Amino acid sequence: MVICDYCGREIKERDFVRLNGYNLHEMCYNLLIVDYLEAKKLNSSLKWWDFAKSELLYRRQPSKGINYETIVTKGVLNEIPTETIIRMLEIARKFIDTKINLIVFSPYVKDMTYEDEGRTLKYPTPELPKKCYAKLDDFGSPEELSKNIGYKVNTQYVLTLMLAEEY
Ligand SMILES: [Zn+2]
Repeated sequence: MVICDYCGREIKERDFVRLNGYNLHEMCYNLLIVDYLEAKKLNSSLKWWDFAKSELLYRRQPSKGINYETIVTKGVLNEIPTETIIRMLEIARKFIDTKINLIVFSPYVKDMTYEDEGRTLKYPTPELPKKCYAKLDDFGSPEELSKNIGYKVNTQYVLTLMLAEEY
């Protein structure tokens, strides 16, 4: 069975895209290119393969057992470089769970520390121009979250990546 590294679903077609060890539906390959062009608008020196590699690695990474919908705020998209956004989402995927529900990405701290009885993780991120938060919210049921988010989702959790000032 061949799994698509972009969407995580099985590839049933005989023709698919092989990209440096990654397998992609043809459609997903096109989506990856669109993602790249969008990211390149924010960072004109972004190289295709650097982007594709980190995007596919991020999508391949197993989460800590909880699935969540991800929201990146306009403030973050406008003010934070794409590679840093991708890195923060990777870190959130690695650490966040129902116990740790807030990660504070800070350019001002040197060490990783837990606070708030282990619910908050402070993570040193020297490349950030300002503090950002990754916050996990529990809406209780997928139906409730779907109502709030405006489209159908299969999870009750949402992760929001925001500027500290947007909190
Ligand atoms: Zn796919």
